Amino acid sequence: MDFALLDEQKMIYQYGQNIAKDFDRKYWMDCADASRFPEEMYQRVADDGFVGLMVPEAYGGSGLGMFEMGLFNEGLSEQGTPLLSLVIGATMCLGAISKHGTEEQKQQYLPPSCRGETRFCFGITEADAGTNTIRINTIAAPQPNGRFKLNGSKTYITDAKESDYMLLVTRTTPHTEVKRKTEGFTLFIVDTKAKGIEMQPIDISVPIPEMQYQIFFDDVDLGPEQVLGEVDKGFEVLFDSLNPERILVGSICVGLGRYALARAVEYASERSVFKGPIGAYQALQHPLARAKTEIEAASLLTHKAASLFDQGEPCGDEANMAKFAASEACVNAVDAALQCFGGNGYTKEYGIFDLYPVARLMKTIPFNNEMVLNYIGERVLGLPRSY
Ligand SMILES: Cc1cc2nc3c(=O)[nH]c(=O)nc-3n(C[C@H](O)[C@H](O)[C@H](O)COP(=O)(O)OP(=O)(O)OC[C@H]3O[C@@H](n4cnc5c(N)ncnc54)[C@H](O)[C@@H]3O)c2cc1C
Repeated sequence: MDFALLDEQKMIYQYGQNIAKDFDRKYWMDCADASRFPEEMYQRVADDGFVGLMVPEAYGGSGLGMFEMGLFNEGLSEQGTPLLSLVIGATMCLGAISKHGTEEQKQQYLPPSCRGETRFCFGITEADAGTNTIRINTIAAPQPNGRFKLNGSKTYITDAKESDYMLLVTRTTPHTEVKRKTEGFTLFIVDTKAKGIEMQPIDISVPIPEMQYQIFFDDVDLGPEQVLGEVDKGFEVLFDSLNPERILVGSICVGLGRYALARAVEYASERSVFKGPIGAYQALQHPLARAKTEIEAASLLTHKAASLFDQGEPCGDEANMAKFAASEACVNAVDAALQCFGGNGYTKEYGIFDLYPVARLMKTIPFNNEMVLNYIGERVLGLPRSY
């Protein structure tokens, strides 16, 4: 096994790092403070071929894989400028359409999305079902004329109002009427401006540039050409999107953790309050060293999961472990960094505390770490299920 990156892969990581020269942490935080989507940054990423990194070249993409997408997001986040929209739109949605879309869907949606002209959000979470996706109630009821009538609601949908389309997880058969609980799901490509859709912003306390929305569907008309995959068999499509999402959240956490550690090392090497820099104190140094080790171990796990995904091998175990390891390591890295900055860590000027809510969020989304541990306990270790 070769752990060294190829030159092209190194360049992809460095591209992620370099984009911050024009769109730096200050630009990113200004967008977050103003709840403004970082259009200019996203457009640059698209222009340089990175939104369509995983889309086949025939549909306007770069034809690369999950490994490269992970490296790019690792590099980007290492500058403190992660973009959730790249996880959701560029990876989950475009990836799912590339794999499961009809020829017409691929032609219609992929090239403009790769160019950054259109964007996708992803809607699965519902207020009542929560983590228990099986119980979602948003129904796309089949009509006698072959069309569907959509009713229900979704919550915490990132970048929904600013996106052109939503990849929406619905039930075409209610969960009370299916034999196997994974049956009856259907994914639709929905125009976010369609008649019958309303959105309310949700104010969250995490400084990220993407906004979150609650969405209500009232008799929205959907056609069969909007179905992604097969009616009632959406769970298979869904599973192809969830592992990439977990791997990329892992990559973001690795990058963000490295950013926090780099800031801490710089500060702790210069700041002196007794004799010598505070970075010499083991009370500060050991938590930084421990977090560095955790971050680099998590990085290897994300690379392994991504590499398995690209080879078409099962990668659920590794994707879950990577997401868990990286999100825990990221919180530990930010916490260790915060300690080094003392009181300064809590100021807007130094911007360290601002990292904490973002890192902590990654333990809860897209799939909370308790459910990730349930997965590892049951599927990897073979222990019985408790819920
Ligand atoms: C900023 C942000 C962006 C988001 N973006 C999107 C998006 O774009 N699209 C989308 O569809 N969703 C999105 N979400 C929703 C997110 O995926 C969910 O909030 C998350 O999956 C947790 O679900 P929940 O909030 O319903 O928690 P609940 O299901 O209410 O769970 C609450 C807590 O209970 C615990 N828990 C639950 N079940 C178990 C169990 N079986 N065993 C042990 N512990 C358990 C966990 O600790 C969990 O955190 C976003 C959320 C946020 C905050």
